[in-house]
Formats: sequence, C-alpha cells, structure tokens
Amino acid sequence: MAGYPTHVRIVEVGPRDGLQNEAGQIDTAAKVAFIDRLSQTGLEVIEVTSMVNPQWVPQLADAEEVYRRIHRHQGVSYPVLVPNMEGWKRALATGVQTIAVFTAASETFNRKNTHCSIAESLERISPVLEQARSMNVTVRGYISCALGCPYEGDIEPHRVADLAARLNRLGCDEIALGDTIGIGTPLQAKSLVKSVAEQVPLERLAIHFHDTYGQALANILACLELGVSVVDSSVAGLGGCPYAPGASGNVATEDVLYMLHGMNIHTGVDLAALSKIGRAICAQLGRDNHSHVGRALMSGKR
Ligand code: MG
Repeated sequence: MAGYPTHVRIVEVGPRDGLQNEAGQIDTAAKVAFIDRLSQTGLEVIEVTSMVNPQWVPQLADAEEVYRRIHRHQGVSYPVLVPNMEGWKRALATGVQTIAVFTAASETFNRKNTHCSIAESLERISPVLEQARSMNVTVRGYISCALGCPYEGDIEPHRVADLAARLNRLGCDEIALGDTIGIGTPLQAKSLVKSVAEQVPLERLAIHFHDTYGQALANILACLELGVSVVDSSVAGLGGCPYAPGASGNVATEDVLYMLHGMNIHTGVDLAALSKIGRAICAQLGRDNHSHVGRALMSGKR
C-alpha cells in the first residue's frame, strides 16, 4: 500500500468531543471565542458541537447558538454531531452544512450508550443520511469501539469493516474509526485499517484515537504508513474517558502536529498558535494541559 501521505487533514474535535467530556464548563461566549481562535490556525475541519438531547449532554445545550455565532471561515468545515432525526431537524434549521453520525462496533456499547442495537442505530441514522444526501450535506460516520470495547473487550477488525461498509453504502462521505477507550496498539490499528480498506476506499477513512494507554501517536504513525491522511485530535487533549476516570482523552492536536511536521508532512496548521489556544482553554477549564508538546512549548524549551 501507499507510504506516508504528504498532507494530513486534521479534524479538530476539542469543542465537541473535548468539551462534552470535561468536568469543567465554559459559557457560550467562551466557546464561540475558542472556536473562532481555532478557525485562525489553518485548521480545515473543526467539529463544533452536537445536536444531542440537552438532557443527555447539558454541556452542549447551547448548540444552535454556538453554531450561529461562530465566524465560519471560507475553506473550513464545521461539522456538528447529529444522533437522530430530532438532531438532524435542529441541524437543518440552524443551517449546518456538515454533520457527523455515530454507531459502535460493539452491541453492548451501543446498548449502554444509545439504548439500541447496532442494527437499530443504523435504522436511526439512515433517514438522516438520506435527507442529508438529498440536500448535499456532507456526512462523516463515527464507529466507536473500533479497537476494543469497555464491555466486550477485543473487537474483530472484520466486524468494524462490515459496519464501515454499511455506513459507506448508506452514504457517509468519510468514516472515522474511533478507539474510544484508547486501548489499541500499533499492529492492531494497522490491521484494522487494512481490513476496513478492503471494503471502503482508504481516502474515505479517518482515525480517531484516544491516548488513554499512551498509544495514540504510535497508532497514528502505524496508520499513516498505510496512507491514512485524516486524523482526529483535540487541542490540549481535551476530553476524557468515561470508562477510565482521570485518564486522558483524545490525542492532543499539538502532539500530532509536532510529529507530522517533524516528518515533513504538511497540515497547514500553525502549531505555535494552536498551542496558545490549548494553554488558554486549559486555564479557563481549570485543568492540566494534556499535550506533551503544549507543555514543552509553554516551558519555553524550544
Ligand atoms: Mg473522542
């Protein structure tokens, strides 16, 4: 297969996946300012919020207001997570142009997380996909637990591949393979991507890795070797792992950028500017900076 890509598209998930899983909260104005600052760093994709029922995720109850108030830059896409038709209607009314839907490769995780089976989760999102396609709204599909489940343990790559193929057939433009509990290791990550790429074009795959066990960068590197060129990450490693309280969440964008730029892989993102935003948001949330690079840059080592 292909070697390292020359350009990687970073999907910044801090404002959604990050803030959703933080104990601390910031107000709507601070969220808007945070996203507006991110928009100026050269990022191509910023996942801004979720049209989820506020009873489930009170942190994101201001979804519409956030989306309406941010300054949307030309050339930057601002996906919004949509769990069901209700969320889709809200997204549509808000003028959202890119959405993300989700399911999980584990039956137990689906049931605990969304109270339905995998098949039912697909039934729930297919009308959303149908409408989104007819309106030229771009859709990314998340598959959680792609490298392991907190309840079921190992997940066979072929199960993820079959699910990815279903999402692809339903019309997802991009499929993000999520290591929700950050448990995978590099060769597993690689065999997952190889297996999924047999059913879905590699260009349509994104990797969404968590750093819970400190494996995220190694796993990303392994997948880059196969030619994967879309990587999800969160500034300052915002977010956490509900299944491992206190553990780190999404891989930090600063750490991914440092590695990619050191390999002469282009991202278009200004690392120095992004790390300042990471520092500021951590101060606002009253939390530690989970980015190694963010901390190193802060201490002025280089
Ligand atoms: Mg995540």
